Amino acid sequence: MGVFLNSFRSGLKPDPKISIVEWSDTYRILPSESSAEPGRYRTSRMPYLKEIATHLSPESPVEKVTVIKGTQLGLTELANNMLFTYADLYPCPMLLVLPTETLAMTHASDKLWPSVEKTERLKDKIYPRKKDGGSKILDVRFPGGNIKIGYSFTTATFASVSRRIVIKDDLDRWPDDVKGEGNPSDLCNKRTDAFPNRKIYANSSPTRSGTSKIQKEYDNSSMASFKMPCNSCNNFFSFEFDYFKFDYDKEKYMLKGSVSVACPECGTLTDESSKVKMMSSGEWMHEHPEKAHKGYRIPSYYSPFLRWDEIFQEFLDAKKAMKKGDVTSMVVWKNTRDATTWEEEYDVVELNDISSRIEEYPAEVPDGVFVITAGVDTQDDRYEVEVLGHGKDGETWSIDFNVIQGDPKDKNTESALDAYLQKTFKTENGAEMKIFATAIDTGGHRTKVVYDFCKKRGARRVYAIKGAKPIDAPLVNKRATTTNLSRVQLFAVGVNVAKDDILSKIVIEEPGPGFMHFPKKPIYNKNYFDQLTAEKRGKDGRWINPSKKRNEALDCRVYAIAALVISSVSIDKMKSPLLYIGAKQEKAKPKKAERRQTSHLDEF
Ligand SMILES: [Zn+2]
Repeated sequence: MGVFLNSFRSGLKPDPKISIVEWSDTYRILPSESSAEPGRYRTSRMPYLKEIATHLSPESPVEKVTVIKGTQLGLTELANNMLFTYADLYPCPMLLVLPTETLAMTHASDKLWPSVEKTERLKDKIYPRKKDGGSKILDVRFPGGNIKIGYSFTTATFASVSRRIVIKDDLDRWPDDVKGEGNPSDLCNKRTDAFPNRKIYANSSPTRSGTSKIQKEYDNSSMASFKMPCNSCNNFFSFEFDYFKFDYDKEKYMLKGSVSVACPECGTLTDESSKVKMMSSGEWMHEHPEKAHKGYRIPSYYSPFLRWDEIFQEFLDAKKAMKKGDVTSMVVWKNTRDATTWEEEYDVVELNDISSRIEEYPAEVPDGVFVITAGVDTQDDRYEVEVLGHGKDGETWSIDFNVIQGDPKDKNTESALDAYLQKTFKTENGAEMKIFATAIDTGGHRTKVVYDFCKKRGARRVYAIKGAKPIDAPLVNKRATTTNLSRVQLFAVGVNVAKDDILSKIVIEEPGPGFMHFPKKPIYNKNYFDQLTAEKRGKDGRWINPSKKRNEALDCRVYAIAALVISSVSIDKMKSPLLYIGAKQEKAKPKKAERRQTSHLDEF
């Protein structure tokens, strides 16, 4: 091989059969800065790489290769080997894309450039880094081509330069859309259209089920897994979580003894010491061999750099954390070790019979209500407001729900909201009740407008709020911040805690403590209840909206409750309702006039 390549160097036509594997085993030196095993590169350590590398080599007609992978498997070095082999023997324009700018810079400075320095064969070929004309840190240049290193969050990466080779690294950490120009993965593929001998190589650990990009690519591919013969029955099987046997201390979650793998056919155990030998007689088996797009799934159990006992102790640590309600380590473990997506499991709130929950109220505000508050959700083209009555022991009465159309920036929208918030609501004895406090969401694109609105109406207890991200953030952080531009008090609302409260109460079916009443009004329809129950609770206890359903009704309810908490009234100590204007005997004509006026404003 060495002799052959030397003759190529002296001007002979290249043999198209020189593969990435041959090139890497002959020339590649791994730099000590970034390698677990620095020195001469040996593909034999990772037999599963061979077929993948072959299809990435010029000898194979395969254009698309996808690898869904665990970590520590040498797939990143494979990408580097691919780039270097082409740079040396088949020079062409190439593009390597990583998720972020930092990752792109780190990859170039810690992996690519030190490899160029250490690998004799490349040293003379790659143009040195120079201010003018030479290579740059993110642009490795050589005669006949270059390797451009880009990142997925900028359109500049996908500028219309044709590339024969495109490598999409860590694809699941890419955005769905880059600055409104489309899916960056598709933009990447388009760059190769001009080359009949193109190669598109994508690799990544997966993320969540349903949204994982690499999983989607793999599902459209030949779907291969790496299978090895059992040394007692010769059945071929792959390393899968279910085949591993291990024992552990059930209290401390500590591994006891060693981990082995059982043949799913005969049950014969193989321990880690035989792993490399077993892998050397393994091969990729494709579920859809007819497909031109080759896809491979490889979990970390195959890694020569990670021991099974390390991997399974990590699993037990994650299991222990999960028992305490923290699911994040298990998600990471499944994605980066098992190379599988994380299947969400949710708690879903279901209301069986909405119609039975609707009541004909004796008045707009039934007896039992001591305070009414409003919660306002701010959208770019409207406000949505719920007016909520609060009783003792957490019992609530929905009073009204109103959608005020118009951009919150517009004066008309502002005055319509203002008028609505000053509306009064009739009680059972004919008195009127005013909204005692209001909380308005400042998230989204209309923050400044809402700050200004609230600042002018502080005396009426109109509060500016924003959602607090931590799962256990208190319902309201009463130490409001004023560090914003408008110097208005801004309260952080623990949205998750509030939703826990609302969605645990909504399933109560008997009027009394915690019960939620809804009036017979057209706006309290199926759509309203769908919004109120749009979210699901994940294993980690966080309420999320996975299918991006409308959920303003729920948000308004959260804010109306926050308004009550911020205003610090304690209903359980109250003897009569707050902001309760006029008893039945006082009800007279001027009252009626005022009522008409507010109804008029209501039409905005
Ligand atoms: Zn067997």
